[in-house]
Amino acid sequence: MTEATGIVGEFLSLKEETDADILTMQCGDFYEFFAEDAELVAEELDLKVSQKSSHGSSYPMAGVPVDDLTPYVSALVERGYRVAVADQHETADGHAREITRVVTPGTHLETGDAAAQYLAAVVRQSGRDGDSYGLAFADVTTGRFQVTQLDDADPGAVLTELYTFAPAEVLPGPDLRNDDDFLDALSERSDAAVSLHASESFAPGRARHRVREQFGAETLSSVGIADDDAAVAAAGAVLSYVEETGVGTLAAVTRLQAYGAREHVALDATTQRNLELTETMQGGKSGSLFDTVDHTATAAGGRLLRRWLQRPRRDRGELHRRQSSVAALTREAMARETIRETLSDAYDLERLASRATSGSADARDLRAAQETLALLPKVADAVEQTERLAESPLANALSGADREAAAELATELDAALVEDPPGTVTQGGLFRRGYDDSLDEIIDDHESALEWLETLPDREKERTGITHLSVDRNKTDGYYIQVGKSETDRVPEAYEEIKTLKNSKRYTIPELDEKERAVLRLEERRHEMEYDLFEELREQVAEHATLMQDVGRTLAEIDALASLAVHAVENDWTRPDVTDGEELSIEAGRHPVVEQTTEFVPNDLYLDRDRQFLVVTGPNMSGKSTYMRQAALITLLAQAGSFVPARDATVGLVDGIYTRVGALDELAQGRSTFMVEMQELSNILHSATEDSLVILDEVGRGTATFDGISIAWAATEYLHNEVRAKTLFATHYHELTTLADHLERVENVHVAVAGEPESAGEDGVTFLRTVRDGPTDRSYGIHVADMAGVPGPVVDRSQEVLDRLREEKAIEARGSGGAGTTQAVFDLSSGTFGGGDGGEPTSADGGAADAVDDDHLTDRFGEDAEDVLSALSGLDVNETPPVELMATVQQWQDELDEA
Ligand code: ADP
Ligand code: MG
Repeated sequence: MTEATGIVGEFLSLKEETDADILTMQCGDFYEFFAEDAELVAEELDLKVSQKSSHGSSYPMAGVPVDDLTPYVSALVERGYRVAVADQHETADGHAREITRVVTPGTHLETGDAAAQYLAAVVRQSGRDGDSYGLAFADVTTGRFQVTQLDDADPGAVLTELYTFAPAEVLPGPDLRNDDDFLDALSERSDAAVSLHASESFAPGRARHRVREQFGAETLSSVGIADDDAAVAAAGAVLSYVEETGVGTLAAVTRLQAYGAREHVALDATTQRNLELTETMQGGKSGSLFDTVDHTATAAGGRLLRRWLQRPRRDRGELHRRQSSVAALTREAMARETIRETLSDAYDLERLASRATSGSADARDLRAAQETLALLPKVADAVEQTERLAESPLANALSGADREAAAELATELDAALVEDPPGTVTQGGLFRRGYDDSLDEIIDDHESALEWLETLPDREKERTGITHLSVDRNKTDGYYIQVGKSETDRVPEAYEEIKTLKNSKRYTIPELDEKERAVLRLEERRHEMEYDLFEELREQVAEHATLMQDVGRTLAEIDALASLAVHAVENDWTRPDVTDGEELSIEAGRHPVVEQTTEFVPNDLYLDRDRQFLVVTGPNMSGKSTYMRQAALITLLAQAGSFVPARDATVGLVDGIYTRVGALDELAQGRSTFMVEMQELSNILHSATEDSLVILDEVGRGTATFDGISIAWAATEYLHNEVRAKTLFATHYHELTTLADHLERVENVHVAVAGEPESAGEDGVTFLRTVRDGPTDRSYGIHVADMAGVPGPVVDRSQEVLDRLREEKAIEARGSGGAGTTQAVFDLSSGTFGGGDGGEPTSADGGAADAVDDDHLTDRFGEDAEDVLSALSGLDVNETPPVELMATVQQWQDELDEA
């Protein structure tokens, strides 16, 4: 490219200065994009590209009017770009331009999404006793700032933290930005933009200084973080990054919250997705757990409730407080509705606080803040005047905000701003009379001048006797008197003609000119003065950012608790007994989402130290997956502080919930591969502890049968013997039901089918959805054959064949020869199954065909019987829909009849 000069040259050299993806530069009344940026923006946002010629070369150019920039920048940032904005300012000799801010996914203030928007930094420090990690999360839209330190941790634990916050942007520390494994794992499961922030900003000394500057010298030690922890480096890096991007919201970040990773239930990305916490597997919001239980009245309340679900707690005291509040709210319908109705008028105070501190709040925002602050006493009254609520922990929640200070600020704002201020702050009309004496004077003068103008037509009509006379104003003529053509001969001499139109003439008079000048002067002074006063007011409000955040969070908490109460009442949920014990006991439990749309058949679950591992069997579509997810969701809801869908539930606190669905089931949704399945299984085997809940749904299904069984078998042994996690394992490998005979704490349960299976309905099978102890009837498919009228000897013989097949399979799964039980080895570090001395896995079908070697049936039914039998033994009853099964059986029957 030839050296560009002029405006394009200026653009290109500014672009050199920034590492943002896109630059936009103010040129008078427009923000312009040039060269590659113009093309990119044009494509992303459907902008028109024109050509700008500059000193013999021509460059693509696209622009937007100055006042319209924000939505364009927002749209680009939401697509993951970092956008630098260069503003133009006047100088003594013309004007200059410089980059004033960089808007990035994690520092984007104008987000249209109510969900939290986190900027994260993650730092690794390698030490003698393993790696430690520091993480910091800032939400500039609300001023939340959280840090944590993970000592002796592995990348998996760090990624789990990151997934849980679902940051919009991640700043990897110096050590991690070259760790491809880490970055790959991050990008695989997260949409976060990864940005490289200057390494120096992570340096311990500088970061510590930055953190102290922001939060005060003592903050770190008071929240239990040591000066040299990786968490400090992460926190410092986040702060300096926000500062450098120039969004000006740092002042809203007033409090550093440290949390221990041990406070929350570990939920990795796969688990969150499997359990459809905030999104369904298809990617929609509706039908997710959050969508189902969310009855919040405010955006902030919804944000909090979502956080409770995504980050369940392990602190029994906190859960107890939430539950008691929910319990009280379920029983006080009137007060609850009053509170919810009051809250429905609330605006997002946390976000308004950030807008005030960044200087982007307008008068409507401050009005919104005022109205919301004024709701606090109403909500407090509703709580305090209802005995049961007043005695519940809800009353303590209210003490989180300084009510008097809130009322004072609300009163101040109310006294300042008119009821319905305009959307712009430069055109006046913002302040009430009595707010400022000198403003009042100007307003008085301004309004009396306007009044004079308004009454001028009447005075002139009276004086001149002209009937078609009006006074108006436009840009070119200023104020003028307009007289209809028919009466122009009656205008007084003092009227000076300025314009002739088709049906009228325009005049001016000296008094009008004079008033016009006065009005313009007053108008300008009024606008300037109101703008200055407004900036002052906004700064005053910004100083109360912490107060606004407190009130916002208090209202959000009450909203979230009331929402849980509403859902509990409407759906007949019950308060779970949350204990420090190991028992998970659910009586007549339901799936919280499925019960919304289905006549749900409740079922029971019991797990404890001695009954630690359940193998769940049952035909396809009987309800295995639902049953297991239901157990996970009830546990999760209990640890979010919610009531649960059950008649009665006792939930021993868990430290993590891990779920994994077999690749085959996931493949149906076009997602996963067997490799990923195994990596994730490996991750669970690493991360889960005896206090975890593990859900394995058809794991091992993604590969040939024998591999699959072996892996499932080995994983079960490992979970049972080593990890000792509470586990539910659904499988269609009936072989695994024999694990209960080998392993002490493994039990079988199965999902029952109508009449088990003697009384299947005419149109196939009736699913009972009831979960019973014991393995499922193994010869379920053969019973279907029996029901369909297959001759008795064939049914008996198929049972024999099947039993034999199973024996062989079971032997092969354990190793060759069946002598003793050679244990299969699951290699944890590689996530692959190493196998004992089992040899090459063989295909299930091959084994099946060989097994049919008995020929006494052939004597009775002829050659055809052999075909039928080998077809029968080769058929996977669990993979075949019931209707097809019936048809196939019918076909065999016909073949045998012919024989
Ligand atoms: P599986 O995992 O055994 O193949 P699923 O759990 O996927 O079966 O359930 C199959 C269907 O049955 C789903 O549509 C589910 O909504 C429904 N279902 C499962 N359990 C119940 C129940 N207890 N009551 C009513 N419907 C249920
Ligand atoms: Mg299933």
